[in-house]
Amino acid sequence: MDQQTVIGSQEWCSFSELNIPAIKARIDSGAKTSSIQATNIKRIIRQGSAWVTFEVNPIQENRSVSIICSAKIVDTRTIKSSNGNTQKRYVIKTPVQIGTHLFEIELTLASRDAMEYRMLLGREAMLNRFLVDPSKHFVCGDHDDRSLAKLYKHLFKKKSGLKLGLLATNKELYSNKRLIEAAHARGHEITFFNIQHCYMRLDAKTPEVRYRGGNILEDLDAVIPRIRPSMTFYGCALLRQFDSIGTYCLNSSASISQSRDKLFSSQLFSRNGIQIPVTGFAKSPLETKDLIDMVGGSPLIIKLLESTQGKGVVSAETNKAAESVINAFKSLQANILVQEFIKEADGKDIRCFVVDGKVIASIMRSAPKGEFRSNIHQGGTASKVKISPEERRLAVKASKILNLDVAGVDIIRSNKGPLLLEVNSSPGLEGIENATGKDIANTIIEAIEKKLKYQPEN
Ligand code: ADP
Repeated sequence: MDQQTVIGSQEWCSFSELNIPAIKARIDSGAKTSSIQATNIKRIIRQGSAWVTFEVNPIQENRSVSIICSAKIVDTRTIKSSNGNTQKRYVIKTPVQIGTHLFEIELTLASRDAMEYRMLLGREAMLNRFLVDPSKHFVCGDHDDRSLAKLYKHLFKKKSGLKLGLLATNKELYSNKRLIEAAHARGHEITFFNIQHCYMRLDAKTPEVRYRGGNILEDLDAVIPRIRPSMTFYGCALLRQFDSIGTYCLNSSASISQSRDKLFSSQLFSRNGIQIPVTGFAKSPLETKDLIDMVGGSPLIIKLLESTQGKGVVSAETNKAAESVINAFKSLQANILVQEFIKEADGKDIRCFVVDGKVIASIMRSAPKGEFRSNIHQGGTASKVKISPEERRLAVKASKILNLDVAGVDIIRSNKGPLLLEVNSSPGLEGIENATGKDIANTIIEAIEKKLKYQPEN
């Protein structure tokens, strides 16, 4: 009795003959024989006797570290598992080291992958050797991720590049094509996934994202979301799912959904001291007159909350015109913002492209003659522009407030200084790459590498 060592509910074991330097075992006095998780179990004949070859993934939740083992079969046993199923298992005998104890152990080869532990230490192996104190664990020594990585360094599969996913709707769009090109050029693997063809499994243990046909998307290092406004709800749900399986999302679900809500993001900006054009919002048509006064009277701008690419933005020259447009929108139950018109901007605005907290390119967009909306989709033109330090600070701060890794920040130049118009979480690359000649897609991929601490191999 005095000779027995106290061990905890989990301990590390090492198997020199199987080339397994460390495997975590659950101490299970309820089981008679010890067992180890194995896959690809094959019986072979070696020099006239029966052997078995098998593979062990010694690290929990890491399938890429795999050790090929072989051992002589000493027995075949029928094992009854806790759920009542029986399984025929090979038994091998091999030396094991636990702390300072080195002894021969009998192990059955278990192929039930759902088992949480890679190994169970049964009571046969403990007999006259160990006493269990279930309140303790790793009494015989512990390993952390670092020491494990060191022990298994030679087995970590070398990756030549990252595995990326582009989550979008149309593969043929300029921005999507450029991101795919840039990822390939930097040595990564990138796959286009149509948001509508992704689906999810929700549960506490194994949440999943699957793709049309049933493929499970589980080994992506990062996803690049390019979610069109009409797909915001589903696209953001999908990003949350990727986040919960540990895939890095360039722009999180939360940051995208708040950037898509013009009213909410305007409130965030004003709360954080970011200058925006004076803006009003009201639910009831009874307040229309005061709403107009509040933003300084006509001329003013009326924006549909769901507007994109300038499509839901109109100007009203007189208070009368403003009143009828506002009331017309309201009678259609549309949510609108009323905003002071920045006349001095002269139909121009500035688009700053922000990646990882830095403005990497900026353009000035000019509206065609007689128009005030400068969006390229409204026939505007774009040219390279040098922005002021104040504009740069504004763009960086706005993207930080929304917590966006990649953002297109629109700024309008007013007599009061630069004002923030809006922040876009899926800014297009075509206009800005063409006007500035910059490889923005490359910078975006670089930002992912930086975030994932990716080091290309030489
Ligand atoms: P969208 O989200 O639909 O693109 P924006 O708010 O960006 O809508 O407005 C579209 C365009 O209208 C802008 O690019 C800008 O040129 C012009 N614009 C928007 N707000 C104002 C304003 N308050 N004063 C003057 N022009 C504006």
